[in-house]
Amino acid sequence: MMKFADLIDEHAEELAALDTIDAGKLFGEGKAGISQSANMLRYYAGAADKIHGEVLKMSREFHAYTLREPIGVVGHIIPWNFPTSMFLGKVSPALAAGCTMVVKPAEQTPLSALYYAHLSKLAGIPDGVLNVVTGFGPTAGAAISSHMDIDAVSFTGSTEVGREVIQAAAKSNLKTLSLELGGKSPLIIFDDADLDKAAELALLGILYNKGEVCVASSRVFVQEGIYDEFVKKLLEKKKSWTVGDPFDPKVRQGPQIDKKQFDKILSYIEHGKREGATLLTGGKPLGHNKGYYIEPTFFTDVKEDMLIAKDEIFGPVMSLMKFKTIDEAIKKANNTTYGLAAGVMTKDLNVANTVSRSIRAGIIWINCYFAFDRDLPFGGYKMSGFGRDFGLDALYKYLQVKSVVTPIFNSPW
Ligand code: NAD
Repeated sequence: MMKFADLIDEHAEELAALDTIDAGKLFGEGKAGISQSANMLRYYAGAADKIHGEVLKMSREFHAYTLREPIGVVGHIIPWNFPTSMFLGKVSPALAAGCTMVVKPAEQTPLSALYYAHLSKLAGIPDGVLNVVTGFGPTAGAAISSHMDIDAVSFTGSTEVGREVIQAAAKSNLKTLSLELGGKSPLIIFDDADLDKAAELALLGILYNKGEVCVASSRVFVQEGIYDEFVKKLLEKKKSWTVGDPFDPKVRQGPQIDKKQFDKILSYIEHGKREGATLLTGGKPLGHNKGYYIEPTFFTDVKEDMLIAKDEIFGPVMSLMKFKTIDEAIKKANNTTYGLAAGVMTKDLNVANTVSRSIRAGIIWINCYFAFDRDLPFGGYKMSGFGRDFGLDALYKYLQVKSVVTPIFNSPW
């Protein structure tokens, strides 16, 4: 695994270029991210020789202990928005746990996954341990989720397909599942927050990776007293945000992944206008019909029951809403079927603590956003799924616990 990580570092430039060509990701950002993702292999390699069970203190006369064994063959089904970090985030803990695996990258982004498979072979990972099968969801993906010899599936993708994966597992061999699904994450900005930073994070929270981020801060709640000033700052900061060729180092936002996603985002923008939200900025395609570029788009006067406030758009579209009190902010933030992430901006520790404990989401960022680390478990509440990637929680999902019991003294058993 260490050698695999070193080879990835050596080939970071090619790998980042493949993700840029496939997914429209920013090349510079992608290249820096490749090394971070390679560190995932190093982190879990360090855990590989520390997997052990426990000796149990039994209430009767037995000597008993647990073993942690590899769960078996794992299927990883991954989406297109982060081809590299998804691949290495799934593969690294499963390798450390001693599993063999089949990875199915998204049909839009197979190139880096194939390159990773090639590098894993050069690193000496035995044939048959790490397999990559490209293909479409209903065929290659469904073959994994319904396979009788696959013991666990770790799926990241839409809530809709997550349901199909559950059904396929139920109809086949009841394989273990973990599902990382969609989100509609709130960013709550209180009136004592550092407004500059809040505007910067709100901008990044929705525009990073062209909004194709499961934890994008697509719902921004701003306390009444600072609302107007916040909007002013947001628009000011947006002026230096450039959309264009993702290989250009000055560009902050590349094209959407494909025509289907591009059309879907534009149709949500039309919905927002029809439902009566105010289009503050953006709302149109960019690039003179060449490439799937969309202007950063911010809506104000958004009501909680509008489609743009409820559905995951997965594009550069922000919904801005006002609130008066902390209770109202919590209630509005929780008014979603999703529960992946949330951000809170305030200097008041009591407010930060109350909000953190009251929001039903898998990760809460206080005065920051997108703060991820390999040691930080990540996953959803509610319809954002179950199970965790990253951290030791991810290692344990690829391990089974076996109990071993033997009598001591003259046990009648
Ligand atoms: P998707 O659900 O369409 O596809 C994800 C993967 O599932 C792809 O590899 C696809 O080929 C496969 N697939 C499709 N149909 C299948 C089926 N019937 N059986 C088995 N596999 C099938 O999602 P997407 O459009 O690639 O990605 C966007 C979605 O992923 C968004 O909803 C986003 O929120 C979610 N996502 C979640 C996280 C997270 O960690 N929670 C991270 C990134 C993306």
